[in-house]
Amino acid sequence: MPESLIKLEGVTKVFLTDEVETHALSGIHMNIDQGEYVSIAGPSGCGKSTLLSILGLLDTPTDGTYLLNSRPVQGLSLPERARIRNREIGFIFQSFNLIGDLTVYENVELPLTYRGMPAAERKERVLEALEKVGMGHRAKHLPSQLSGGQQQRVAVARALAGHPAVLLADEPTGNLDSKNGEAVMDLLAELHQGGATIVMVTHDSRFARNADRTIHVFDGRVVQEQVETDPTA
Ligand code: ADP
Ligand code: MG
Repeated sequence: MPESLIKLEGVTKVFLTDEVETHALSGIHMNIDQGEYVSIAGPSGCGKSTLLSILGLLDTPTDGTYLLNSRPVQGLSLPERARIRNREIGFIFQSFNLIGDLTVYENVELPLTYRGMPAAERKERVLEALEKVGMGHRAKHLPSQLSGGQQQRVAVARALAGHPAVLLADEPTGNLDSKNGEAVMDLLAELHQGGATIVMVTHDSRFARNADRTIHVFDGRVVQEQVETDPTA
């Protein structure tokens, strides 16, 4: 049997601020296989974003182990972590996080430039990613000239352009009205059907229905795992 793409064992995260300890995560176990679409649900403050930040190598656990592609990510040097983050992780945030004075094209290109990809290959990747999210006709626009839903599609393209092993999305519809939210969710479902591995945080259980399964988190612990039934089956 192939190893999981993502394997967490007893992952714990304690924040210490002004001598007050916050136990954001308390012993999380989790396996995610390549090609799976997993949603993570739970109330505000239960640790969802902390979990996603750890999966995305934006933060480190206080305790426990994280294996990404069977490789322990603890103990890696900062440059090595940055390299893996850049190549293997695609992050989508609630607030899009596009750079306002760069065009759509330049926003999607930037992470590829950081990793030293030659210009011709960058161009191919950027155009491919923009086509995939239906934004090829907006390459020269600035983010401010787009709707929120369009901006989020560009952010998805930016995440995809690096051909990451996994897409991590933290409440990707949180800043969108329901119509644009649905469209972004449909896009993620489409990417999943095309083979993408996706881990998406949502506090809205309606949006979990496209996922293969939902992991329910409460107070820093996994309290339930639920296989989603396909609404079209
Ligand atoms: P969620 O995304 O489910 O709303 P978070 O992961 O953001 O939850 O937060 C989980 C807990 O950890 C909360 O109590 C939050 O206040 C705390 N927390 C998150 N980030 C930090 C931080 N950088 N410093 C201190 N406490 C934090
Ligand atoms: Mg959060």
